[in-house]
Amino acid sequence: MGHPLLDLTNKTAVVIGGTSGIGLALARGLAQAGANVVPTGRRDEQVRAATAEVVALGRRSLAQTCDVTDNGSIERLLQSVRSEFGSVEILVNCAGRTKRMPTLDFPEAEWNAIMETNLYGTLRACRVFGRHMIEKRYGRIINIGSLSSFVGLFEVAAYGASKSAVASLTKTLAIEWAASGVCVNALVPGVLRTNLNAALLDGTERGREFLMRTPMRRFGKIEELAGAAVFLASDAASFLTGHLLVVDGGILASGVNQ
Ligand code: NDP
Repeated sequence: MGHPLLDLTNKTAVVIGGTSGIGLALARGLAQAGANVVPTGRRDEQVRAATAEVVALGRRSLAQTCDVTDNGSIERLLQSVRSEFGSVEILVNCAGRTKRMPTLDFPEAEWNAIMETNLYGTLRACRVFGRHMIEKRYGRIINIGSLSSFVGLFEVAAYGASKSAVASLTKTLAIEWAASGVCVNALVPGVLRTNLNAALLDGTERGREFLMRTPMRRFGKIEELAGAAVFLASDAASFLTGHLLVVDGGILASGVNQ
């Protein structure tokens, strides 16, 4: 039996970007903590597979695609989840994309696409679900930051700008909605190997540098983020808002590692 304040039974969580990598691991973690979980993304097949995982864990789910670049699709998702579950208590904004290229060569269209998903997508989902949570006077929003919310990472300027802005947005919404019962925090993963970054990390100098800079000397496992997400989503975090919770094996704490 876990701590009662960490129990998410009878809560409904929507995890956007919940069909792969970190988001899927968070969807599993929230379901294991008792929540009904709606993992979503753009591709129907992936949505169905993620939904089936939630059901296999003994929770309720709902399969509906969502694209955070389209406000209407987020609105439709909220409507479906409300008619199935009544309300949404937890939102995780995990949709993200990245591209590495020298900033001078970076095509503007690609820059805009990264901003559209990582920053404006997070903003759209916060607004659609935040309005509902404010009406209910209860909500937990978890945005996903990055080490690049804090420090510069080589040749990923658009991604870093988007994630720094997500950190800022998290704090601003936290103070705006604090009196309405809606807590807005960010989970900041260190380096975890997923579809997003495998090509950037595997057998590269960049991958080796990350390992050298990580006091734990390894990449994180996606399931190592679940506990932090369950905590932020729970009533145990009732006085916690505007916080960026870094789960990074010590990278941001470290200066020299040998
Ligand atoms: P993945 O590529 O494995 O997962 C991305 C998820 O987002 C998929 O479910 C994808 O599904 C969904 N997605 C992408 N675009 C959209 C969109 N427009 N609308 C809705 N869903 C979308 O990546 P990760 O798990 O690595 O990354 C998840 C988050 O974690 C990102 O925000 C990333 O920046 C962040 N992060 C990752 C780190 C890492 O080390 N991996 C470190 C720090 C932060 P589909 O393509 O079907 O839409």
